[in-house]
Amino acid sequence: MVSRVIPVETFDLVIFGGTGDLARRKILPGLFRRFRVGQMPEEARIIAAARGDMDRAAFQAMVRDALIEFVEPEARSSEMIEGFLNHLDYASVDAMGESGWDTLRGKLRDGKIRAFYFSVAPSLFGAIAERLKTYGLANEDSRIVVEKPFGRDLESAKILNKGLAEYFDESQIYRIDHYLGKETVQNLMAVRFGNILFEPLWNAQYIDHVQITVAETVGVGGRGSYYDKSGAMRDMVQNHIMQLLCLTAMEPPARFEPDAVRDEKLKVIRALDPVTVQDVVRGQYQETSDLAGYLEDSENPDSNTESFVAMKLEIANWRWQGTPFYIRTGKRLRARMSEIVIRFREIPHSIFGADSGSKANELSIRLQPNEGMDLRVTIKEPGPGGMRLVDVPLDMTFAKVLGPDADDVPDAYERLIMDVIRGNQTLFMRGDEVEAAWAWTDPIISAWEEADKRPAPYDSGSSGPEEALALMHRDNRRWKEIRS
Ligand code: NAP
Repeated sequence: MVSRVIPVETFDLVIFGGTGDLARRKILPGLFRRFRVGQMPEEARIIAAARGDMDRAAFQAMVRDALIEFVEPEARSSEMIEGFLNHLDYASVDAMGESGWDTLRGKLRDGKIRAFYFSVAPSLFGAIAERLKTYGLANEDSRIVVEKPFGRDLESAKILNKGLAEYFDESQIYRIDHYLGKETVQNLMAVRFGNILFEPLWNAQYIDHVQITVAETVGVGGRGSYYDKSGAMRDMVQNHIMQLLCLTAMEPPARFEPDAVRDEKLKVIRALDPVTVQDVVRGQYQETSDLAGYLEDSENPDSNTESFVAMKLEIANWRWQGTPFYIRTGKRLRARMSEIVIRFREIPHSIFGADSGSKANELSIRLQPNEGMDLRVTIKEPGPGGMRLVDVPLDMTFAKVLGPDADDVPDAYERLIMDVIRGNQTLFMRGDEVEAAWAWTDPIISAWEEADKRPAPYDSGSSGPEEALALMHRDNRRWKEIRS
């Protein structure tokens, strides 16, 4: 199989915060990989904008180091790196001040696609949007890309949306959720809407329940004070998990087009029932003999912030009535694993007898590690011994199915940036979607804040608090094991 690289038009991409952590770890290495596979037009320019006083050569040296640190050695050569560095430039600009904007404008070319990536704190979004217009850098064809967190509640998200809408049309705003750029997430749509097999079964009649797990092994050490103001609900559930839930549960859009897809996702969020107290578990990892607990990592000995959330959700519409969605996410868990599991109902009657073996299919969509899917089907256990049944996986791990081409599958950031250049908003969140997600999340967070209770403790390296296991057990169901 030969992977196809579809060329994009030449562009000027300005990265505000182009010297920051996200730019060095994700954005610039992602662009480098697009350069490596030949997708970067010869004339394309990437201009970092930040306050730091440095010249082009100093910025190029910084990016050279970042590529050596963050791109796998087999995917780079000095020649390639130097070729990529030729595309780079730097402008010293203060988002909150008036200096540097004219110089930056002087670096932009007429007639080329213009995109501005706001890889800075959200408090700067409004100021940058305003100055892009005031100093004549942006036109009606320009695009802006904004990073998470997009607000910390409905009110702040509305303020951010309003601040951007004053200067840019919704069709120019690309709100990134990098989960949407993952190959498997798009494959979820391909599986659902590109096969006759699944969609007829994709409803409460045939699906017993859905599980969405985003488990991390890392704690919050290093960014404890940031995380302590956020927590798992704001950091993971409101955005990433909500997006995965929407793509799993949405009705088939008429076309794979931005507003058609986003309209359907929005309907899912609006159909979510409010969650009741007994359907939510909050957890916080505790100190073990070799690892610090959350309270030490966050440097706040009284913190009630959750590093783990599990919930049972109900979507109140015809398709999903009676099929719960169980979601969980947490830090310092047993393994790093992000997965959506569709558990089908058992067959209504076994002709092989009640104790012949398994009878339920399961489709797992793995976002990480080993991106891919597997479908568990029931077959006869090989050999003598009568008609004993056994579940086996039809394994579609991309690295196995695609072979060496799997290495060229773009990672989430590079794919999304190329979508910005192409002007395709399908995999970006619309303003009303983000607000609807906050509108659903806010009452849950407010209730926690009001109750001011300690989250349930759990050990590092475990599957989370006991209460989360009980959430499923009481419905006679079980979480899939967290493992890498
Ligand atoms: P960071 O390492 O602190 O970098 C911030 C960047 O913004 C630096 O280049 C900084 O350069 C620049 N900057 C700060 N104030 C500025 C101003 N007034 N005018 C112009 N440039 C300014 O932050 P980061 O981790 O890269 O995160 C950037 C954004 O992405 C944040 O909103 C963060 O929440 C989000 N995000 C980050 C990650 C991640 O993994 N890092 C993941 C998801 C989302 P100067 O100081 O030289 O101005």
